[in-house]
Order: sequence, then structure tokens, then C-alpha cells
Amino acid sequence: MDADDPPHGGGGHNNELLGGLLPPGMDRRSCRSRYQSSWYYKHFPFAPSRHLLEKLRAYEARHRRCAPGTPQYARSIEQLRSGRSAAAAEGGMEECRYVVWLPFDGLGNRMLSMVSAFLYALLTDRVLLAALPPDSAALFCEPFPGATWRLPADDDFPVANLFRVGQDMEQSYTRLVVDKKVGLGPPPAANATATATTTTVPPSYVYLSLGWLLRDGIFFCGEHQRVLGKINWLLLYSDLYFAPSLYAVAEFHDELRRLFPEKESVHHLLSRYLLHPANPVWSLVTRYYRSYLAPATRRIGVQVRMFGFASIPADDMYDQILNCSRQEHILPETDEAATPTAAATGGGHGNSSNNNSTAIFVASLYADYYKRLRSRYSAPRIGMAKGGGGGGSTSTSTRRVGVFQRTHEERQATENLAHNQRALAEIYLLSFSEELITSGLSTFGYVSSSLAGVRSAILLTAFDHKVPETPCRRAVSMEPCNLTPPRSLECQGKPVDKEDLARHVRVCEDFKNGVKFFD
Ligand code: GDP
Repeated sequence: MDADDPPHGGGGHNNELLGGLLPPGMDRRSCRSRYQSSWYYKHFPFAPSRHLLEKLRAYEARHRRCAPGTPQYARSIEQLRSGRSAAAAEGGMEECRYVVWLPFDGLGNRMLSMVSAFLYALLTDRVLLAALPPDSAALFCEPFPGATWRLPADDDFPVANLFRVGQDMEQSYTRLVVDKKVGLGPPPAANATATATTTTVPPSYVYLSLGWLLRDGIFFCGEHQRVLGKINWLLLYSDLYFAPSLYAVAEFHDELRRLFPEKESVHHLLSRYLLHPANPVWSLVTRYYRSYLAPATRRIGVQVRMFGFASIPADDMYDQILNCSRQEHILPETDEAATPTAAATGGGHGNSSNNNSTAIFVASLYADYYKRLRSRYSAPRIGMAKGGGGGGSTSTSTRRVGVFQRTHEERQATENLAHNQRALAEIYLLSFSEELITSGLSTFGYVSSSLAGVRSAILLTAFDHKVPETPCRRAVSMEPCNLTPPRSLECQGKPVDKEDLARHVRVCEDFKNGVKFFD
């Protein structure tokens, strides 16, 4: 079968533009995943709202006007070089204002912060540019038609050392506010003598530290958003999915409601819009899928992430996975495997017993859990048929279960492009599952399940190295968790509808200090 034909076991959805989410007419060959991924996804739970579609098309037009290579961009770079914001210099707002995404942390973290930064650009009429380091250069396709999203290389950009800013940034927004180099100005009704804190000319750029250290928590206050609106270049540094915290900003609240009538759809739709694996990664994905996962009638993804601060013995982790699976009815039970009526539980796909096969795709830095699952389904009944690429399957007259793992990299190596390409391939392979078990706190797992459109069973974290009593919780929302939302913020801006906020932004299933979107 040709790689440009739909696979067996695909989603069967003839909806390559994902309900209008994707712009038509982009070059197919330069980014095969954009229009082929609909063949592979099994779930399409949310249609984009009309308002979101209009917003995206308007965004694309703005991006084309302002992207690198345009006269507007050249002008904005000149203004950046001058050190003063155009609004101050010319008494007006520039048409092209930018948010520059900077890389921080692992791939899952980066994907979450890219999507959050894009949402912020949509909400503030900015243009998103990505400062892609060499380790990420060939991961994703250009997302927008007719213009690049890449920030041109370091030398051409007036702010030096973009990839080495670290956590300590001279030009961080809060630092500038504290140093009174930028300020809120007088409240609208204040008289002129009471404006000692009024600044001064807005700078041409600021850094925003919106990652786990969250130096710029005040970013999530409406009054600061008004100040930031006058700064043409925002250099955004985050490893978080901060989208849910934007909902607490009154200025964004109503717009977010219109864009996403279902809050659970925010990351799902935006990641399917924005992130498309580049051709080399897509080849890894589709070749593997076609060889090992497509023949099955049902695919289950199991993502196991062990964090150093929450490590437990492999035996305990394996038991946790099996207990979770039993609790949520996900993996086929071995004692059911010989029973003709024993459909794999939980999937509800109505497979007939003579054509009832399951492929379990394991993503983990280690081979251990794959090996254990493989032997679980091979022994003792029937010999295992070895599948190249790290797979094994057992067949009975009633059911076959294959267990597959593509890589076990042993350690994270985010600075290495080939490593990141393999990691990205696995995120997408997980996202083509009917069902998922993912690891709590893992952004790798968050991205996979929300791309998949699946509410995964989230393995709870072994805080203090204690095996959790409850092995996992079924996600109530497929949205990723913002692991470090702003706390104790005292904003002075317009109040937000508290009831609505409390209903739609709540504590994550897997982390009591995190928040996420729910419906
Ligand atoms: P998180 O640390 O789980 O939140 O996820 P990140 O993606 O941000 O960082 C973990 C990184 O470790 C990934 O980006 C990969 O580089 C690597 N990694 C972790 N788990 C896996 C896995 O299952 N497969 C592969 N190929 N890489 C992994």
C-alpha cells in the first residue's frame, strides 16, 4: 500500500480539513501530515466553532502581512533596534505586534507552551513567531499558509542570546514594573497629581517568564495586559499550558467563551490546527503505524513516565498500570482472552470475536513495561510471534493481542533533533489510539491524549515515592493541566464572572496544585 493512501484501521473520517479547522490549498507534499492525519485519528469529539474559524482565517491574513520577509516585519525590526515601542514613538499602535515563542524544557512542555502562546496571539491580535533551536528545527511543518512562523536566525534579530536567556532576565516584565521602567499609568478617573507611578516610554520588548518559575504572574491581570498591549515584542518563555489561566483575565473571558463553547476542546482543536509533524517525523509515524498498529481492530496507548522525584520500583509501577487498567477496563484481561465472547472491554467498538485484535502501543524511556506486558499476553497459552520493531503478539482463535514499543531511549536528550523526532513520532502514535493510559504530571501524556481526543486514564504520581492508593483517575476533561497557575494574584482590573470561572477552570484530576479547563 502506498504511504499516500489511507491505512487499514484508520479513523475512516473523510474530513481532511478537520471541519474547516485547517486552511485549504497548502502544499501537500511539503507537509504530508497536515492533510493525512485525519486518516489516523480515531476520535473527532469537537467541531470548531464558526467564530474560531473566522478568527483563524483573520489570524492567517495578519500573519501573512507581518511575517518575516514583509515590509511590516522589517519596520518592526527597525523599531525593535531603536529600543522604543512604536506606540510611544508614533502615538499609535503598530499593526504588527509579535509574540516570540522561546524553547524551554522537553518536547511535551514545548508543544503546550506553543499552543498557549498561539492562543494568546489570537486573543491579542498578535503574530506568533517561533524561535526554533537546531534541536527543533525539523520537527514541525510551517503552520500558516503563505508565510513563515520561524523567527529568522539569531544574527538578524536585535535581541541577542535568545536561547540562553535562562531564568534570569534583565528585561523581564515584572522586573521592569518593579524598577518603574514600565508602569500602569493613572487609573482612568485619577487626577493628574496622583500619578507618580506613571511611566515613561514603553520599551520595545519585554521577556515574559511564564514557565514553572512564573516570574511574571502579573501577566494574568487585565491591567497589565493593557500595558503589554503597547509593547510590540513579547518574548515568551514558558514550559506550561497556561491557556486556562487566560480565562481568569476579564478581557479574554468572553472571547474565549465564544471561541470555544466547549472548554474541553481548546487544546484539542488548537494543537490539531497548529502542530503538524514535518515529513521526516511523519514517515516514522506512518511506517510504524502501518506495520504494527493498523492491522489490529483496536489500539490502546500506554505511556509510562517515571519522574525522579516520584520513582517507585518497576514491580509497583507495573502493578499500578494493571490495577488502573482493571479499574477502567482498558487492557484485555488475560483470563478473558480465550473466551469467544470476551470483547476487549471499555472500547465499545463492537468487534466480532473472530476479528478482535488489540495492539498495545507502549511509550516509555525504558523497555521494562513493554517487556512485562508482552510476556503477559504471550505466556503461557500460545507462543509469541515476534514482530520486528519491537513487537510481539499472541493469537488465539478468538483474540490477538500485540504489544509494541518503538524506542526505549533510556534518557531524555532534548538537545538532540533525532531524539526529539522519535519522541514526537511516539506522541502521534499514542494519539492514534482508541484508548489511553497516560502518566500524571507528564506533558508528553497530556499532549498525546488531547491530540487523540481521548479522556485518558491518568496514572497518579507516586509523590514521596509512595505507591498511590488509587492507581489512576479517568480524566473528566481531555485538556492538559496547567501545572503552575498563578496564585494569590491581586489584580486591579475588571472583575471576571467568578461563577463561570469556578465552573470551567478547576483542579486537575492528577495534581491538586494545577488547574485545567472543564465543561
Ligand atoms: P514530561 O517531562 O513527561 O512532561 O514530557 P516532556 O516531553 O516535556 O519531556 C520528556 C522528554 O523525555 C521527551 O520530550 C522525550 O525527549 C523524552 N521522553 C520521555 N518519555 C518518552 C517516551 O515515551 N518516548 C520517547 N521517545 N521519549 C520520551
